[in-house]
Amino acid sequence: MTADRFCFDGRTPCELSALPTNAGDAREDKPKYLSRTAANLEEMGRLQDGFYADGREGLVVILQALDAAGKDSTVKHVMGGLNPQGVTVHSFKQPSAEELSHDFLWRANRALPPRGGIAIFNRSYYEDVLVVQVHDLQKTYRMPPRTTEVGQREFFHRRYRQIRDYERYLYENGYRVLKIFLNVSKEKQKERFLERIETPAKNWKFSASDLKERALFDEYAKVIGEVISATATPECPWYVIPADQKWYTRYLVSELVADALRRSCHEYPALPDEARARLQDCRRRLEEED
Ligand code: AMP
Ligand code: MG
Repeated sequence: MTADRFCFDGRTPCELSALPTNAGDAREDKPKYLSRTAANLEEMGRLQDGFYADGREGLVVILQALDAAGKDSTVKHVMGGLNPQGVTVHSFKQPSAEELSHDFLWRANRALPPRGGIAIFNRSYYEDVLVVQVHDLQKTYRMPPRTTEVGQREFFHRRYRQIRDYERYLYENGYRVLKIFLNVSKEKQKERFLERIETPAKNWKFSASDLKERALFDEYAKVIGEVISATATPECPWYVIPADQKWYTRYLVSELVADALRRSCHEYPALPDEARARLQDCRRRLEEED
């Protein structure tokens, strides 16, 4: 699978600024990738039927990225390959007062799908070690001294461990968490921001605060590399994929989702003999009508 090239499973550290943001040689072959994406989307739909019927595993797809990397359009596109029945999308925004009065995994846990279902997380609990860390937001939280007096570094190292433990807990309980980071370049982000400002239909996507975050681009990149290195494991790796060309990002995401579904589909549940006999009886009754 092409996406394997972008996999981090914890064995090697992730240094974001050294990783590709563009499609590289694939740019010579765009039509090939477009048709492969279409085939993957079709396969995802087929696999999802089996996954839903099998109902033994749940899938959580986490999309993380800096602004304008294409999270929203990836969600829209990936959803296009799936049956809306059996999929939910959650966008994790700034936490509400109610959310902040709970542990940081609370709101994510409430958004888990049942087994047989898929949840797409547009941002996730990873914000609680990214934006929170970059802006030191934990200092504004109402938490007991024993949790905060350990200092900034230890506070986030604990959260990395809590996330690893949580993801292992999910894995051991029949969930797969597919973690995808859309890696956009600073230049492409600028281009997309300008497009949002210039195109009236895209104005709503831009806010002046996006520029404040952009000014912290390099700091985010450093923290993101650390977070990925600390939370990538063999059962629950990260995929850091180039995001400067949306068609390539979509191709890789469609490959990853199809692969996760393939691995989560065990078989269509076979009915016991008695239930099969009942079905045959129903069939006879239907055929005997009129
Ligand atoms: P958007 O995805 O562009 O609609 O923006 C959502 C905003 O919510 C982003 O700026 C995120 O960084 C922010 N956000 C999401 N989760 C958290 C969190 N746990 N703490 C603080 N800010 C968050
Ligand atoms: Mg935004």
